[in-house]
Amino acid sequence: MHIIETRDLTFAYPNRPPALSGVNFTAGRKERVAVIGANGAGKSTLFKHLNGILTPSSGEVLVHGESVTKRNLREVRKAVGLVFQNPDDQVFSPTVEQDIAFGPANLGLDEETIAHRVESAIQLMALEDLRDRPPHHLSGGEKKRVAIAGVLAMEPQVLILDEPTAGLDPQGVADLIRFVNTLPEAFGMTVIFSTHHLDLVPELADSVYVMDHSRVVAHGSVPAIFSRP
Ligand code: ADP
Ligand code: ADP
Repeated sequence: MHIIETRDLTFAYPNRPPALSGVNFTAGRKERVAVIGANGAGKSTLFKHLNGILTPSSGEVLVHGESVTKRNLREVRKAVGLVFQNPDDQVFSPTVEQDIAFGPANLGLDEETIAHRVESAIQLMALEDLRDRPPHHLSGGEKKRVAIAGVLAMEPQVLILDEPTAGLDPQGVADLIRFVNTLPEAFGMTVIFSTHHLDLVPELADSVYVMDHSRVVAHGSVPAIFSRP
């Protein structure tokens, strides 16, 4: 069974043409999936459906084979973590540490578990030196690490990263690649991401979806997609 799936997913923002048209998307456990395509193709809109932030106009989203509804939204948000493209949409607490604790606290976990998860996420994202800083004064790349740490601390089964390399310097990109590639084996995590850096896709993904104007126009393994004439 796919851990996450969309069936004939269609969505339009109010008074706009469809941002998603009949999208069929699947990802398996531990799979690394890249979603590529020009600006405006629909990648972010797809991601916001996968964790229930947006509700389909028609079609459905399934997590663990179960259709996402208002009733199981809480479970879905727990299972599927989304890191937004712009960390300013996600990073807002007085300190880095409090910011990372926000997600797990929202899950209703006890203090000890929250503290443990925050500590682990700080270590994973190498944020030890920044823990007491106000996140809104950090650099773009640092904020991004804080946003990722906050989602990781919720221990999702599926991690979605919208343009994770945007705003990172080359060292930041190299660190991110190394880190993301540990997640499937270390935690059994599925990783779904979008990127404009096509050269990174072979290093970061097992399979690729190509989107264009609200539709999936190609889907396959990395070699299949990149060796097309
Ligand atoms: P991508 O992530 O591939 O750049 P998006 O999912 O952000 O694409 O956008 C898909 C389409 O939906 C675009 O035409 C975009 O202008 C439109 N769109 C995105 N967000 C909104 C919004 N909040 N309100 C109205 N239209 C939007
Ligand atoms: P430690 O052995 O240091 O306590 P944990 O096993 O608690 O490490 O995990 C370290 C961090 O890795 C967690 O805070 C979280 O960020 C992430 N993590 C751990 N387990 C999972 C999981 N099952 N799914 C997703 N992320 C996880």
